[in-house]
Amino acid sequence: MARFTLPRDIYHGKGCLEELKNLGGKKAILVVGGGSMKRQGFLDKAVSYLKEGGMEVEVFEGVEPDPSVETVMRGAQAMRRFEPDWIVSMGGGSPIDAAKAMWAFYEYPEIKFEDLITPFGFPELRQKARFAAIPSTSGTATEVTAFSVITDYSTGVKYPLADFNITPDVAIVDPELVAGLPVKQVAYTGMDALTHAIEAYVSTLNGPFTDPLALQAIEMVLDYLPASYNGNMDAREQMHYAQCLAGMAFSNALLGIVHSMAHKTGAAFSTGHIPHGCANAIYLPYVIRYNAKDSTAASRYAEIARRMGLAGASETALVNSLCEKISEFNSRLGIPATLAEFGIDEKEFNEKLDKIAELAVGDACTGSNPRAIDPAAMAKLFKCTYYGTEVDF
Ligand code: FE
Repeated sequence: MARFTLPRDIYHGKGCLEELKNLGGKKAILVVGGGSMKRQGFLDKAVSYLKEGGMEVEVFEGVEPDPSVETVMRGAQAMRRFEPDWIVSMGGGSPIDAAKAMWAFYEYPEIKFEDLITPFGFPELRQKARFAAIPSTSGTATEVTAFSVITDYSTGVKYPLADFNITPDVAIVDPELVAGLPVKQVAYTGMDALTHAIEAYVSTLNGPFTDPLALQAIEMVLDYLPASYNGNMDAREQMHYAQCLAGMAFSNALLGIVHSMAHKTGAAFSTGHIPHGCANAIYLPYVIRYNAKDSTAASRYAEIARRMGLAGASETALVNSLCEKISEFNSRLGIPATLAEFGIDEKEFNEKLDKIAELAVGDACTGSNPRAIDPAAMAKLFKCTYYGTEVDF
């Protein structure tokens, strides 16, 4: 048995934020981040649409990037006081992720954080409220996924929460909210979306419901990401939809070791944080070459290349074309080809390598990767991504 779960309604198109008028409820709490939505006027707009729809509105502001357990608890407390029947979250991944966890603690005050970290172990939500999500970046697709990441700063551990209960009821995918994205974010989040779609397509949980979404997303990223990066707003709009389609695929088919590697290296080095999408973009071609040693995975990658019209007379040649296409995108988008080029210190990299490799193998995303990997092979693979050497194992 497999399950395929998505929001019941996905509104899309310029200005569709206005749909907040039609949610139909009594009280809405609006969860937002650090202020970019406020500065651009979208917070005020959202509040007035909700009020026009006859709702009483409370705003919970200031969810930080990589939201903490404490923020989640504060939000849940605000919800218990206000008793909303709609939770509306708006912003980059963080406020939406935080609001998903707040929702669980609002409905089940007695639950413990440890109870929620068991995958697909959530209690039944929607006893008190439904959930609407409005993304202001084009990458994580948390508006349509069953995932949320919360950080426990006291232990330094990131908890990936996963349960179809936290798949939102309504997603409002309004391209006007991403018109002002900085170009670096356009590049990184766009490559994150491409990685979501490719990993979902080759995942061990791929299937007939997720494949078309993944392929469509890949095609759209290849068609629109460079133009979106160069400021074309029609392309920016299409990228906003492409990342959402990729999210619909990976929420149900899960991901692979590109994400395992990115999760465990994002904050690992003293030379600075590697943005999630940038890390994925660097690792993706190396992981494809590693996974393609598995013949089933190779056929799936070749199928992607074929559908995208890339050249190649054999499966091997098609897989090569796909990797070259990704590398070409990285260079057009100003993304480095290796960790060395990114600026990670060689000595520190080699010192931390074995530990990071072990952690990456243990990441939640490794289980659905199409080819098995152990810590020794993972360390070798990381070395290839550092030095830009060939993946020949
Ligand atoms: Fe991602």
